[in-house]
Amino acid sequence: MSKPSITLDEALYDYLLANSLREGPILERLREETNKMPQAMMQIAPDQGQFMALLAGLIGARRYLEVGTFTGYSALVLAMALPPDGQVVACDVSESFTAVARRYWAEAGVAEKIDLRLAPALETLDGLMSDGQGESFDLAFIDADKENYDGYYERALTLLRPGGLIMVDNVLWSGSVIDASKNDPDTLAIRALNKKIYKDNRVNISLLPVGDGLTLVQKK
Ligand code: CA
Repeated sequence: MSKPSITLDEALYDYLLANSLREGPILERLREETNKMPQAMMQIAPDQGQFMALLAGLIGARRYLEVGTFTGYSALVLAMALPPDGQVVACDVSESFTAVARRYWAEAGVAEKIDLRLAPALETLDGLMSDGQGESFDLAFIDADKENYDGYYERALTLLRPGGLIMVDNVLWSGSVIDASKNDPDTLAIRALNKKIYKDNRVNISLLPVGDGLTLVQKK
């Protein structure tokens, strides 16, 4: 048995944020507005957003595909990190959540970088593939409804260039993945995809205990 990663209590997490988070006022205000909503748990943590932006820079990402945009924090932090000719395709089904997103994207001056597709994401991704956009994305984030995770994963893999990166969110699902009493469709879908990715020879992987669990998947 090897030793697990350090456990962050609130004080240590505060220290981590105080010594690393460079969020900026617009992102901070978006996060605070979203935190007042009943669905606030769906927002990524700010340190995770900063980590994803760093990854985008590391792989020289220009095109970013997002499945599950919510109030727009991840799309905003990525759009700000991409080069001036960078593009975000953001998939969501909620008019009201993405209305919040649009306000902040406009305020940050990145709205023209972000192509918001309000439709079931599987349809949007199928459309991108039939539109000849296979292997055209550098980076993808999967964070929408968990039951469709496998479908999102397969399509993202097709849409990604070789060497590109998929980030799959909530892969530890608050610990439900190891709770035998939890067998709801979301938990089952996450467990099944985790197992599949582990054995998937098409990719290199790392499952990180960041946020609610984040798997990095690099297409070979
Ligand atoms: Ca999430």
